[in-house]
Amino acid sequence: MADTWLTDITHFLDENGEIITKPSQAKVMAEYFAAIIMMVSFPEPEYPPEYKVSCRRRPNKKTCQKEIVGWIEPESEDIYWICPKCQDRGRIRNWRGTMWDLSDGQQISH
Ligand SMILES: [Zn+2]
Repeated sequence: MADTWLTDITHFLDENGEIITKPSQAKVMAEYFAAIIMMVSFPEPEYPPEYKVSCRRRPNKKTCQKEIVGWIEPESEDIYWICPKCQDRGRIRNWRGTMWDLSDGQQISH
């Protein structure tokens, strides 16, 4: 089974709630997770195409780029995401109330 990325998104925020910029690798990861949060928390059942997130992994040195699938686990409200192709997967906590939470606190189901 592939590793699961366990992410507390607040670790990618500075004291002002802004995305961290250093180290640059952390910023890249933060922006990736932020995109997943916006996709999953989008307040309509169908999110627009520009909110789609492509897999960033490069198995065998070829970019995967499969569309990431994400959902909110109802009990914990953690975001789960997975790449259907390469099985890269993760879980994001503490995303509620961040600037990327588009859900307005509403319960949503995609
Ligand atoms: Zn993938």
